[in-house]
Amino acid sequence: MYENIPDKLTNIIVTGKSGAGKQPRIDVLVDEFDLEQLSTGNIFRSYLGKFNDHGYSGDIGRFWQGKSFVRDDEIADVLGTDDPDIILGLKAKFFVDRGLFVPDHITNELFKGSFAKRDHRGQVLDGYPRTLDQAKFLMELLEEEDSRVDFILRVDNDDEMIVERTVNRRICPDCGKVYHLVYKPPHEGKCEVCDVEVVQRSDDTEEKIRSRLKEFKEKVIPAMKYLEERGIPIAKVPGHLEKFTPENVRKSVLSSVNKVF
Ligand SMILES: [Zn+2]
Repeated sequence: MYENIPDKLTNIIVTGKSGAGKQPRIDVLVDEFDLEQLSTGNIFRSYLGKFNDHGYSGDIGRFWQGKSFVRDDEIADVLGTDDPDIILGLKAKFFVDRGLFVPDHITNELFKGSFAKRDHRGQVLDGYPRTLDQAKFLMELLEEEDSRVDFILRVDNDDEMIVERTVNRRICPDCGKVYHLVYKPPHEGKCEVCDVEVVQRSDDTEEKIRSRLKEFKEKVIPAMKYLEERGIPIAKVPGHLEKFTPENVRKSVLSSVNKVF
């Protein structure tokens, strides 16, 4: 039925606006093609965790010179370790703690380290690349490692639908169960499992969603366009399905993937 799809895939990129519905599609790809999900969020958590576990309690701002960090061996001297993962974790934490955009060269290094640990193969890339510079870095890395990306899966969804879905989202602070004020309202505002009041995540305000949508248009779309020009095909799937069932999600993903081969 999906006869065009090769038996063995190397890597896939999944992209789409924040809130478009990427995760259920990633689940299908991971399942069908025996891949692992490599998400930027987890990469950051992992490196920050390594730095935190090292237990340095001093001010990390001391390593920042206004435009760049001091040399790695100077950082290593103060930290008492030259483990590159811990030093990278420190650099990432500097920006994350200050709520700043993490520069591409740091995100690229974090990605490169994690991708290498998995042999540059068998991954569904989630949240990377997000800028043109990251896309260029990825293409060079793939070439060096004699690896490839088979296709990009783009989950499409309408801005207004995403805004409506996100601002009405409520989450149980205890178990993480997700509610929607209109489609899946919590009974008397409380989680049905834990009986505690559900909350709105601080990222789920309209202002923040619109700023993420804008970032997608300005940064992610040019990155994907660059990859497409370099010969990586894009399979498009709808983020909204009339009947959202696991089987319908699977069919919609596989039939669009089938078309790009
Ligand atoms: Zn709960």
